[in-house]
Amino acid sequence: MDTPTTAVIDRQGLDELLAELVSRGYRTLGPVVADGAVVTREVTSCVDLPAGWHDEQGPGRYRLHHHDGNGRLFAWAVGPTSPKALFFPPKEVVWRAAAGENGPVPVEVEGDDRAVALVGIRPCEVAALRILDGVLSGGAVTDPGYRARREAAVVVVAECGEPAGTCFCGSMGTGPGCEAGFDLALTEIGRGARWRVVVRSGSALGAELLAGITVEPITGTDEEARHKVLASARARMGRRLEVEGLAAALEAAQEDPGWAAVADRCLSCGNCTLVCPTCFCSDVEDVSDLSGGLERRRRWASCFDLDHSYLHGGAVRPTVQSRYRQWLTHKLSSWWEQFGTSGCVGCGRCITWCPVGIDLTEEATALAAGRRTVP
Ligand code: SF4
Ligand code: SF4
Repeated sequence: MDTPTTAVIDRQGLDELLAELVSRGYRTLGPVVADGAVVTREVTSCVDLPAGWHDEQGPGRYRLHHHDGNGRLFAWAVGPTSPKALFFPPKEVVWRAAAGENGPVPVEVEGDDRAVALVGIRPCEVAALRILDGVLSGGAVTDPGYRARREAAVVVVAECGEPAGTCFCGSMGTGPGCEAGFDLALTEIGRGARWRVVVRSGSALGAELLAGITVEPITGTDEEARHKVLASARARMGRRLEVEGLAAALEAAQEDPGWAAVADRCLSCGNCTLVCPTCFCSDVEDVSDLSGGLERRRRWASCFDLDHSYLHGGAVRPTVQSRYRQWLTHKLSSWWEQFGTSGCVGCGRCITWCPVGIDLTEEATALAAGRRTVP
């Protein structure tokens, strides 16, 4: 029998998939409830997944609720963690040396070098990885660590059926469905005793994994159920952003008084850049110890840090207003010029995790108002 590229699985099938990934040596990561949020941790079976959990998100607000009995595993939107941290760690030793007789001798930097299998990431996160790939692996400069981790990874995306109040992937063309960038794609089409998942393969590895687990053939009713889930999610997207003409409109808004108004509320804390799945700025420091050892450490940086724009004698973005403008216009405007895409995938994290509830969709819409030149 030919290997199906689309099928239906139940919990047994999903458990078999997770067990297969673990047995192949992957560091298998998926969604779990921890620290009051849905976050990414190691998983080995469906028991680890957030069955019955649903999130409530708004500007500066995130709450989890448990719906007993519905049994859905993927009825939540993105939490504070994103796949970015797995491929581009928040802190990393990129080079180490020990003292030698004739000078420093390079020493291997040890770490968990198991390939990662990401289960249950969302379509906007797949889109964010595609953006990061262009910056860190496919552009003028390649980060070898990022590239190696990405190339070794398995991606099992879970299409979205329950968008959050801060989601706007529908506006950015990055969700709630997913058509590329995955090995397997899951869509939850039932609940309780009728819990099932449509599974599609998107690569040779995905097809091989699918061939090794217990599946049922997909029916027209299952296909229809998947389309209904996605259409319903699209209709219930919590936010929207009109992107037509937005990049040029924001560029034309550099001197708008609205930047001062948002800067009055912004704490310049950098939370938005840390939770963002596409922000990629980093800083490096070289550290030595008394034994003669040397280390180069890289850590995430934020355009909200005053030091981030420090150039020979001073910061070129000394005000919160100038830093907020840099963040928003880079994401939604100059990113196009630099990388040929938007820098925002509409995940909504920067809205949810902003301590004062600044809403990127509202700010961008207000700043662009009256400046769009849509043909
Ligand atoms: S800018 Fe905000 S909504 Fe856009 S990808 Fe980053 S965190 Fe998500
Ligand atoms: S927009 Fe919000 S999260 Fe971002 S720096 Fe300002 S206060 Fe912090």
